[in-house]
Amino acid sequence: MGDVFERLGIPTIINAKGTATRLSGALLAPEVVEAMAEASRTPVDMTVLQARASEIIAEATGAEAGYVTSGAAAGLLLGTAAAVTGLDPARMNRLPDTRGMANRVVVARSHRNFYDHAVRTCGVRLVEVGLADRFAGAGVRDTEAWEIEAAIDARTAAVLYVAQPHSQPSLPDVVAVARARGVPVIVDAAAQLPPAANLRRFIAEGADLVVFSGGKALGGPQASGILAGRRDLIQAAALQHLDTDIHFAQWNPPPAFLDKSRLPGLPQHGIGRPCKVGREEVVGLLVALRRFIAEGDAAREARWTARAEALRDALADLPHAEVTLVPDSYRPGMAGVRLRLDEAAAGFDAMALLNRLAAGEPSVHADNSQVGDGIVGFAPICLRDADIDIVARRVAQELRRNS
Ligand SMILES: *Cc1c(COP(=O)(O)O)cnc(C)c1O
Repeated sequence: MGDVFERLGIPTIINAKGTATRLSGALLAPEVVEAMAEASRTPVDMTVLQARASEIIAEATGAEAGYVTSGAAAGLLLGTAAAVTGLDPARMNRLPDTRGMANRVVVARSHRNFYDHAVRTCGVRLVEVGLADRFAGAGVRDTEAWEIEAAIDARTAAVLYVAQPHSQPSLPDVVAVARARGVPVIVDAAAQLPPAANLRRFIAEGADLVVFSGGKALGGPQASGILAGRRDLIQAAALQHLDTDIHFAQWNPPPAFLDKSRLPGLPQHGIGRPCKVGREEVVGLLVALRRFIAEGDAAREARWTARAEALRDALADLPHAEVTLVPDSYRPGMAGVRLRLDEAAAGFDAMALLNRLAAGEPSVHADNSQVGDGIVGFAPICLRDADIDIVARRVAQELRRNS
């Protein structure tokens, strides 16, 4: 019999990398899975579902409104579309053709990343400013808020801000200059949970919209995310995502969520329609969000740290390896295990170790983010209890191979 993957003939893996999308995201708690299964058995009106999700997300984030997306990247797409079109259905229908609209998004050059493709999908042009001179070691500065301010003009639809513990300039400084010019700030905080306080932080610092991934540490479905922020922008986002195959006369959305009186009619299916979410994802995300808040940082940190310590202990005393627990000072509970390989003594490098672990049986995917420094990382968050011994056995096999 086996599990569903066995029945379908699909090999599974051990995920010691973390909640990466390519490795299928978070492990879902039974309560989340059961809620999704339960939701799958009963029809709902998706607009009514999202209206209630909006209230729950608003409560959790301190924002005016919220929306469940198919991921943080989808949230960036919907948020950008909202900033470009406002509540004008004619503009919504024209996207990604943004001719005649404010269609530029200002971003600090150091904040550019592959996910901003979701922003560019809306037909906007990114205007990069500043120079991350600090990275070269030649200088100390990064983009400064005045440079963002200087780049804002009548064509600016939004400012994109990617939140990381080391992001510069600070969000409050960026908000101050954008607000003065009436331009919304969209914050990509996809992976900035935990701490749970970050659910409220970016909104409190003045973000007009913020996105979080549902499928990372939040523990929600892989294809889920949160968009939270200003009510008018959430309305514009919803209108470009929800299925609108209905006569305007029939359409009676909950007024606190979508104010029909502000619209001349319904837009066609919007630019966000390809990233639709099902009721299972919406419900799964909401239950995961409540669990995430209820567990709290301290208990979560204890749970994940215990697993990381068990893995560190299981990896002790291996040849050619120095194994340490590395705490994450910004994200409580996100401590990882670092294996520094003595590549010369081992006779192979960290990339080879990563590849051999992945090619083995079972396939073990470790953290590749520092492979260039001879480091293979192991994150506890997607490991099941039984995985720890398997990971340790596979690593030991590879390290003892030539000794
Ligand atoms: C993970 C991530 C995303 C994408 O999130 P999804 O929920 O997978 O769509 C976007 N931005 C950053 C910075 C991320 O880390």
